[in-house]
Amino acid sequence: MLIIMVAYLGVTAYGSYQIQANYFIKSISYGKKKSIALTFDDGPDPKTTPKILDILREKNVKATFFVIGKKAEKYPELLRRIGEEGHIIANHSYSHNYLIAFFSTSRLTKDLQCCNEIVFEALGKTPAFFRPPFGVTNPRYSKALKSNGLQSIGWSLRSMDTKARSKYKLIDTVISKLKRGDIVLLHDSLSVTADALEDIIEHIATKRIDIEPLSKVINKEPYV
Ligand SMILES: [Zn+2]
Repeated sequence: MLIIMVAYLGVTAYGSYQIQANYFIKSISYGKKKSIALTFDDGPDPKTTPKILDILREKNVKATFFVIGKKAEKYPELLRRIGEEGHIIANHSYSHNYLIAFFSTSRLTKDLQCCNEIVFEALGKTPAFFRPPFGVTNPRYSKALKSNGLQSIGWSLRSMDTKARSKYKLIDTVISKLKRGDIVLLHDSLSVTADALEDIIEHIATKRIDIEPLSKVINKEPYV
């Protein structure tokens, strides 16, 4: 177990470096505009995603949700709510398997395709944006992405919400690092993120920075 944890931490730290360096595949990790985009990974989660959606609706902010296919399959009503409230739904793989970087090309292709099909069933639209689990890519991803019509999306601001011990720490990390053009990485599967979100949005407003949908910030269509 310890070995798995150490390997996992090493992989996530490496992935963060790698996705911005475009090491194996070309990922978009920065916006082209003065506005920023909020992105949420690892949902939908029945406990925390509704809270996040409530705050986004109240603040009239549109975000992007990189959903895990197997969770979306379990909570299709939540997936539909995300789409109906005007947020972008994007692909974060079906399995989110921690060994996904070791999948063969055909298994990887099927995994990504499966997530797209679940979204299509719920929304009638096929995602064009994909974020690799743990930010780790390899040459097999380029084929898997191409055959699914997916564009890899990274991030420029890692909120570290997965490690944040309090909502105040999380708010501080995001606000102190934030700059125009950022793609902010958050997780809608975490209660600390749900608790911090309202303050984060208010702080961004006081900096007079607009939050826009990812598709606008990077000037790309979110669906195939
Ligand atoms: Zn993830």
